[in-house]
Amino acid sequence: MKITEIEAIPIKYPLKETVHWAQGPITERRMVLVKVKTDENIEGIGEAAIFGGPNITTKTIIEKELSKYVVGENPMFSERIWEKMYMGTMQHGRRGLVICGMSGIDIAIWDLIGKIKETPLYQLLGGFKNKVKAYASAGFYTDNVNDIEILSKEMESFVREKNFTAVKMKLGRDPESKDEVFNQYKAVSRSSLELDFKRVKAVREAIGEKTDLLVDPNNAWNVKTTIKMVNRLEDQHLYFIEEPIPTDDKEGLKIINSRIDIPVAGCETAYTQYEFKELIKNRCVDIVQPGVTWTGGITEARKIAIMASAHHMLCIPHSYNSAIDLAAAIHLTCSIPNSEYVEYDQTDGNALTMNLIKNPFDIDKEGFVKPSDKPGLGIELNDRFIEKYIEDV
Ligand SMILES: [Mg+2]
Repeated sequence: MKITEIEAIPIKYPLKETVHWAQGPITERRMVLVKVKTDENIEGIGEAAIFGGPNITTKTIIEKELSKYVVGENPMFSERIWEKMYMGTMQHGRRGLVICGMSGIDIAIWDLIGKIKETPLYQLLGGFKNKVKAYASAGFYTDNVNDIEILSKEMESFVREKNFTAVKMKLGRDPESKDEVFNQYKAVSRSSLELDFKRVKAVREAIGEKTDLLVDPNNAWNVKTTIKMVNRLEDQHLYFIEEPIPTDDKEGLKIINSRIDIPVAGCETAYTQYEFKELIKNRCVDIVQPGVTWTGGITEARKIAIMASAHHMLCIPHSYNSAIDLAAAIHLTCSIPNSEYVEYDQTDGNALTMNLIKNPFDIDKEGFVKPSDKPGLGIELNDRFIEKYIEDV
């Protein structure tokens, strides 16, 4: 069997209401759907992350550049294909858009391998379990004057109505800052820390003591602010704090992780096994969060998970794009012994998670989500939804 063609399809879904994270407003959700086609009419489906920049850039990198390393290859040689793409783009790749493009192709190739072998991906990788607990990932800031009340109700609904046993909320936004993207170089305002303290307290009250509470300041703080806030939040029994400071400051992460009692989790913004090697060996984090659609696909995320296992660290993959990303993350976590949760994006009923595929993922009564038992990722695309939201580039 040979790979004959790769197609990259940019998709954009506008959110009904603008929400904010620490680094600015979010008005839409975007992704690049990747299809790897073969001469035997079997097609693999993948996703490349896109968190900014024009979608046409990722599409061009995949179709005009990376495809030349992939077309003509046998999809069973996934490691060879990965290395060809990585070494071929050495001088301008290694992080960012090129690795996101590679991730989309690699996920599609693993979907293909599963279809060829008629085996679900998690079993192909070496099954460890057939379900994993999901945590509800949401809790953004709104512009509403009753923001804290809205947040508490939202987080409570994940527990009471949807059976989640863990929820994650955002921290780190400074409403006084006009240039949100430059937050990392500024002193964080006292009122924003006060606001975050109130938000966490209100959510803890709403979800009760038994639910795991995860917080994510999205790189907005510095070392001192993080330690101060974590100490102040001691009574709130946080499960982890995610990416509190910029990922580039690995020394800072190491200091934080050695001085606080809750685990530092990260880093979705780290790329490939090489950057995760630094995070893991220096104990910058206790919980490792590779994003399958932007750290190098299944091939690379699995290596990162194994590296974490060798250091007795949990691997809880980042998953914040579409149902394809979620499917890949579920299969990955079900194939490794060192995972407790998978991230399940719940932002305002994110349609890229709920409507992109015909068989979206349900949470059972105990808060578990199951990988499909169909071959590969086991997902079926909803073509009508996709056609409606294809971005004209
Ligand atoms: Mg995050």
